[in-house]
Amino acid sequence: MKNDPSTRIFDLLQFGEYGDVNPSVCDSATFTFMQAKTMLETFQGEAEGCFLYSRHWNPSNKYLADALAVMEGTESAWVTASGMAAITCAILQICSSGDHIVSSQTIYGGSFAFLFNYVKKFNIGVTFVDITNHEEVRNAIGPNTKMIYTETMTNPLLQISDIPALAAIAHERDIKLVVDNTFTPMIVAPYQHGADVVVYSMTKFINGKNDCVAGAICASKDFIDSLSNVNDGTAMLLGPALDPLRSSGILKNLHTLHIRMKQHSKNADYLARKFREYNIKINYPGLEDHRGHETLKRMMNPEFGFGGLITIDMGTAERAARLMEKMEHAGVGYLAVSLGYFKTLFSNSGKSTSSEVPEEIQRDMGLSDGLVRFSVGLDHDIETTWIKIKQCIDQM
Ligand SMILES: *Cc1c(COP(=O)(O)O)cnc(C)c1O
Repeated sequence: MKNDPSTRIFDLLQFGEYGDVNPSVCDSATFTFMQAKTMLETFQGEAEGCFLYSRHWNPSNKYLADALAVMEGTESAWVTASGMAAITCAILQICSSGDHIVSSQTIYGGSFAFLFNYVKKFNIGVTFVDITNHEEVRNAIGPNTKMIYTETMTNPLLQISDIPALAAIAHERDIKLVVDNTFTPMIVAPYQHGADVVVYSMTKFINGKNDCVAGAICASKDFIDSLSNVNDGTAMLLGPALDPLRSSGILKNLHTLHIRMKQHSKNADYLARKFREYNIKINYPGLEDHRGHETLKRMMNPEFGFGGLITIDMGTAERAARLMEKMEHAGVGYLAVSLGYFKTLFSNSGKSTSSEVPEEIQRDMGLSDGLVRFSVGLDHDIETTWIKIKQCIDQM
């Protein structure tokens, strides 16, 4: 029997009050009570199963949150209107004025901008480190540090965070490890490896349709309850509630995630090996000589492969732009930001999703001007996709 949390989701039976196999969409902002006392108890968090107001909890959002908690093996989860809402709420729930964060230097551009530019307002300090250098991580932790922040597979350099090792470092100092697992749902379940809080942009692989933005936070019941506390919960008070209509759509898509992840990984692995044979500088954690290959292997559920993201280096931003335009016209996929879509998406990270990172820091972290990130799609015939890509390269 397969028994990792990611596959336990398939045992989950959730149906609506009429036996509707897709639980009904609850499109109500508020909920009525037959007795005033129950409302009071709900406000105090003491009435199990009662809903109050949809910024707090909504039944449709709870179905999705419960499914995500099963997938991650966490006690609880919370869904948000975007990945950034999940990230910022999780961080601000843990950190107060005067606190300090140790963060991976290579992370999603929006997360970087939040930590680099925004948390200053709250007098929260951040030290950016090479997350694969554990000595550097350890040395960056001070008396007021509250968390280590990283991504399982970092954007866009595809470095692999050693989650068990980072959890050990964090817990030694009694601080939290917060992990963005957007690139590797099902492949890695960070909570099972010691992360305290797992955040997602569901906009990407989890939903996989590019028809909405959404996010999630998976953690202990205590942490999720604190986020949704009516008096001081960050998610409750900042209010990035997900539309229940959207969460019901995402829940349906979540149930095909396992098939999609396998296909994304299979196609990415195929292209990575072809790029390498063709002497293009390629980065894919599935390649045996990738620096994080062994680390990822130790954490991953091998059924789902090494993920759908690969990067190549075209040397300069101009060459990257030219190749991407050719690939767009050849029908390889779309020149677009984002990832985890059924079509292949490609973009030049330095000039797009990592443009928030100042150029000198981009250079410092090894982000080349010519880096093209591919989110490889679900192509049925990846061999033909490669032929198209190869023709584009040959025309350069
Ligand atoms: C896209 C992304 C985010 C932000 O999510 P949104 O849903 O766009 O707010 C955060 N982290 C990673 C790794 C991402 O790829």
